[in-house]
Amino acid sequence: MRWKKRALALMLVLACLLPRRESVPAGGRATVEIGETPPTVAITFDDGPKASTTARLLDELALREVPATFFLVGREIADNEELVRRMAREGHQIGVHSYAHIRLTGLSRSDFDADVGRERAQLSSLLGEGEFWLRPPYGWADSTVQARAGAPIVMWSVDTEDWKYRDAGHIAGAVLGQVQDGDIILFHDIYDSSVDGAIQVVDALLARGYCFATVEQLLALKGIRAENGTVYRSARPEGIFKTWDFQ
Ligand SMILES: [Zn+2]
Repeated sequence: MRWKKRALALMLVLACLLPRRESVPAGGRATVEIGETPPTVAITFDDGPKASTTARLLDELALREVPATFFLVGREIADNEELVRRMAREGHQIGVHSYAHIRLTGLSRSDFDADVGRERAQLSSLLGEGEFWLRPPYGWADSTVQARAGAPIVMWSVDTEDWKYRDAGHIAGAVLGQVQDGDIILFHDIYDSSVDGAIQVVDALLARGYCFATVEQLLALKGIRAENGTVYRSARPEGIFKTWDFQ
């Protein structure tokens, strides 16, 4: 029984249309069994918060009860504190994308701490103590960034290149043509076309039977123990990097 309860608890954090098999014994109550874990992905958004686009994205995600992960730029937080509180309240994961959207490779220890530490302090004072996982700008990291990260490092396995195309249909098509179970999908919530594209992706994948989770939930669901400094491109074995050198 114990594993069943645990599976049920994990399922309940996911947003999706769960596959169910109902059986109704004669004269008895219907029981619902939950089948195999459906394919699950994490949608992630960098470079916000931005008042207009991020608020609209949160509205659309709330309508669908879909959780996401936001890697925030610290200097954008001060003018959007209520939006950040709302993200946390509505079950989204919040992470660090550097205070000033700078390259984290090649920094001195004090410059690294002045940037990443400054954003962590901002988030802690706004939301309370938390882990605040790291996504380095441009995906640039090396062994030094890994050693200093103080949290798991999240990259991506599906790149929408939404900053380049600015076209919702193109963005959605790029994801839907290649998405797989365990993917981490990269968007930027500072463009209207990215919000529209992301919502098209969510609706299409819900219709295909996919579930959505935050990155932290996705790794846990797949039995992966997240470790500080390890790079996660996806929640599949080939997406985990103890060493990473891309800059
Ligand atoms: Zn960025």
